[in-house]
Amino acid sequence: MTQLRVPGPTPCPPEVLKAMGWQMVNHRGPEFHELLTEVTENLKKVFQTKSDLLLLTGSGTGGLEAAVVNTMSPGDKVLSVSMGVFGDRWATIAKTFGADVVNLKVEWGKAADPDTVKKAINDNPAVKAVMVTHNETSTGVTNDMKAISKVVKDAGKLLIVDSISGMGSLPLAVDELGVDVAVSGSQKGWMVPPGMAMVSVSTAGWKARETAKMPNFYWDFVRAKKNYDEKKENPWTPAISIVYAFKVALQMMLKEGIDNIFERHARIGNLTREGIKKLGLPLFADPAHASNTVTSVGIPEGLDGKKFRQICREKYKVVLAGGQQTLDGKIFRIGHLGLINEKDVKEILSAIEKALPEAGFKK
Ligand SMILES: *Cc1c(COP(=O)(O)O)cnc(C)c1O
Repeated sequence: MTQLRVPGPTPCPPEVLKAMGWQMVNHRGPEFHELLTEVTENLKKVFQTKSDLLLLTGSGTGGLEAAVVNTMSPGDKVLSVSMGVFGDRWATIAKTFGADVVNLKVEWGKAADPDTVKKAINDNPAVKAVMVTHNETSTGVTNDMKAISKVVKDAGKLLIVDSISGMGSLPLAVDELGVDVAVSGSQKGWMVPPGMAMVSVSTAGWKARETAKMPNFYWDFVRAKKNYDEKKENPWTPAISIVYAFKVALQMMLKEGIDNIFERHARIGNLTREGIKKLGLPLFADPAHASNTVTSVGIPEGLDGKKFRQICREKYKVVLAGGQQTLDGKIFRIGHLGLINEKDVKEILSAIEKALPEAGFKK
């Protein structure tokens, strides 16, 4: 069987795929009300929040746009803490809707330094919200969200977090850390196909919503909350099959236990990095902040990165990701989130080991 090891979409368990084939129900009827309630309540357990959790039909980027347009007004000063492609994309979204974006750009491969974030806030006291990527999928780096949250909260700013490739695999206790809006996406660590974004909104997040003037309709949090609270429905026709998939995947996740899931990802991340080092390949991310959901590997002299991934895919049935933008041709990435265990990592590493010399690598 093919090992799909890109950082999303990720493999789904057979039980989840079977749920995707369930017959449709009326999304304004009692079966769906019960389904959406169960899925929403279980998602809150993984987000570790007692606040609102909204299930939006769209990809993760839709969730990022929703977070922006529901908390900001044109002209608002916001701080973007970016350490890669996805952080930059989020800043572009805010700018597109008229925010006055202050860019704190972190060198790719490194994590954001909480003191630097603090200084950026102090230098720009008018900043209303701080946008932070929890886990930067393009570089394989995880931010220290405990330290960064503290800095942002101490300054009394709104904290909005892209945890699309973190939530469900890496610990991010939304309420405890004071994250005001956290965004995730179904196809990353959740063992669910692409199609939905999940967004938590805190009390301060709702306060920001009251004054936010950026145009929105489809992504309107108020409509989403009202429909859920009053009717256990979505305002628009949701991706029902994805909600089916979530029902089954979340039951599996809660049975494993979220702390066990976090531990498993930590073990898998370590095992992957150790294996890569043993093969003589350089790790791209700062080892102190290496992600446990995606490992970025430098492409050394002599190795043809494209050919290498092609051999992995065609001959050894392991699908890996390349680098994005300026990292194209410089790194490849291994997604190890969601449905993955130690045996999978051994298979992935063994495929890489065999493909390396065939693509010109000499240790
Ligand atoms: C995947 C990802 C996105 C984009 O999500 P889409 O579902 O492709 O729109 C944004 N941010 C991060 C950190 C991601 O991993």
